[in-house]
Amino acid sequence: MKAAGALRWTIAAIVLAAMLASVLSFRADAQSEYMRGDRMPYDAFDRLPKTDLDVPGGTIHVAFAPGEIMLPKEKLLDWIRMSARAVTAYYGRFPVTSLRLLLVPVDGARIKGGTTWGYRGAAIRIPIGRDATENVLQRDWVMVHEMVHTALPDMPDRYAWLSEGLAVYVEPVARVQAGDLPAREIWQAMMRDMPKGLPQASDQGLDNTPTWGRRYWGGAIFCLLADIEIRKRTDNRLGLQDAMRGVLAAGGNHAQDWTIERVLAAADKAVGVDVLTRLHDEMGPKPVTPNLEALWRDLGLKRNGEDMAFDDDAPLAAIRKAITAPRQQQGD
Ligand SMILES: [Zn+2]
Repeated sequence: MKAAGALRWTIAAIVLAAMLASVLSFRADAQSEYMRGDRMPYDAFDRLPKTDLDVPGGTIHVAFAPGEIMLPKEKLLDWIRMSARAVTAYYGRFPVTSLRLLLVPVDGARIKGGTTWGYRGAAIRIPIGRDATENVLQRDWVMVHEMVHTALPDMPDRYAWLSEGLAVYVEPVARVQAGDLPAREIWQAMMRDMPKGLPQASDQGLDNTPTWGRRYWGGAIFCLLADIEIRKRTDNRLGLQDAMRGVLAAGGNHAQDWTIERVLAAADKAVGVDVLTRLHDEMGPKPVTPNLEALWRDLGLKRNGEDMAFDDDAPLAAIRKAITAPRQQQGD
């Protein structure tokens, strides 16, 4: 019977649709299992196969959440190695002896914002667009940004400006030191973006203003000012880099819970000047608006239309160069 035949086909179509739906929802579940919530899926991670990458001072355990990625795995591992090299160039060693790194395939071609955790050992999760190209990996800053987070102890949320500020400021500097970016590019970006971190009319200090601009760029301004001040007070021998290496040397990293006072004291001790503690006393409780235009001029950064020129006769030109100069690594 036609009706029966038609019904059979309808049932077949329904069964097929249901199977397809369950396959699709399985895929969606598989992805969301690794993206769900605001915690690292440590248990799920521990069930995945891992590739171990040796880095100076540690091992990165890389796992891929289920799903297709266009680029071959080896290219993705190269990107992780390149990012780890930049972070190592800055800190003198990889910040943690063991890092779990989870890549989660998602729609699109971009590297979406990553997240770093420390409560059960340092862990990073990065959503990567399955259509990402080698060029996207080459230009990516997210991986280095997240790895920089692993170098700072976990602190209460109101001090997120320090951890985001360091990640925003250190990431490009580390990539220049590693030879992955030209210095010109990062100074241009700082001139363009740092004004986003200046206090707005109703803003309080960094400790009391949990906005995006103040956390990311306000924190980055704090780091730049600290770097310059440490260099001024040590005849340009030491900088923020040495201070933050001091935190690592004192046993501080993202798997530890420290107070901000302890972090800043350890950093200050490493360079022998109390720049970070004092700057926090100033910028933490109340809004401070540094004159960025004067700062760019003193560093020898001159706007030239869309472009920028360096002025090596400027009073802080030597400090500007020292900030991005490659440094010795531990054991060199
Ligand atoms: Zn961050």
